[in-house]
Amino acid sequence: MKITDRLASFSRLDLVGAATPLQKLDRLSGMLGRDIYIKRDDTTPLAFGGNKLRKLEFLAADALRQGADTLVTAGAIQSNHVRQTAALAALLGLRCSALLENPTGTADSDYLHSGNRLLLDLFDAQAEPVASLDNADAQLQALAERLRGEGHKPYVIPIGGSNPLGALGYVRAGLELAQQAEAMGLAFSAVVLASGSAGTHGGLALALAHAMPGTPVVGVTVSRSVAAQTPKVAGLIEGTAALLDVEVPAGLKVELWDEYFAPRYGEPNQAGLEAIRILAGTEGVLLDPVYTGKAMAGLLDGVARRRFTGDGPVLFLHTGGAPALFAYRNAINMEIRTAATTIPTTSAF
Ligand SMILES: *Cc1c(COP(=O)(O)O)cnc(C)c1O
Repeated sequence: MKITDRLASFSRLDLVGAATPLQKLDRLSGMLGRDIYIKRDDTTPLAFGGNKLRKLEFLAADALRQGADTLVTAGAIQSNHVRQTAALAALLGLRCSALLENPTGTADSDYLHSGNRLLLDLFDAQAEPVASLDNADAQLQALAERLRGEGHKPYVIPIGGSNPLGALGYVRAGLELAQQAEAMGLAFSAVVLASGSAGTHGGLALALAHAMPGTPVVGVTVSRSVAAQTPKVAGLIEGTAALLDVEVPAGLKVELWDEYFAPRYGEPNQAGLEAIRILAGTEGVLLDPVYTGKAMAGLLDGVARRRFTGDGPVLFLHTGGAPALFAYRNAINMEIRTAATTIPTTSAF
């Protein structure tokens, strides 16, 4: 297939290794009356895992090719992306500098010091607090300029690793998923994932439009309205297709649901916390309050409200994020204490 050949022409560090597991969630499926599968990109093998490692396979290969000695990036204080970038810098013997914002302005000490933020110190990353990342690309360029002035060779990775080169990681993931689905004889009614900086969504949607055409890839937004997120996803699809020199298939439609991220990025909501508790209690799977809990809330509501067409299985792409659970200890505790739904034991099915 052409897209596979084109992808193979880009240099890539093999960091992810074997395909991540594609599993059926038996107890959740029993509880919902619909088959739900999960692809475990939370289990990628570096520093508690997550989706960013797939993007970094391509981005870090480019950094090494350019002779960089410092990876420069940005994100929230609890950014999973910054954590994975800092761990990779350690693995490669590079420095890491990161601009960190506090998106909700919280003073909660678990948020400010635990979870992902604690790990940045273990990886010896240079963390610089900033008031906002409203001009992230310019702010990153300014930091890179400063580092060059100090004699370093910085390589700038945008927020979330979401540029066309990074999105190649999710083109590759999509082709991997299509192979697994075929081997297991599965035809998904939809694939559901969290859509943030959009490289994951864009890369996956492009790959599946080629390899599993007609399968909706539903991005549950974590920070933006459909109107604001659509051009980000579409732009990454276009840019990634151009980089690969492949077509954007005519049937590719950007699908976004924005009903599940309120009140804002980085602030938990009731349905997201409940989804975290349900997945922990039915499957022993750990979601997070910023991304995957909200995306799973979308999936659960989508099943309940019949938002998915057909009656085939639905696939959830687990993109990671569980280290942030420790940063949101108070919200998780509150959910556990005031739980509205009880999780059935097997005998109840
Ligand atoms: C970054 C991240 C996402 C979103 O991926 P994007 O490519 O930024 O859209 C989803 N889940 C987790 C856990 C993440 O860290």
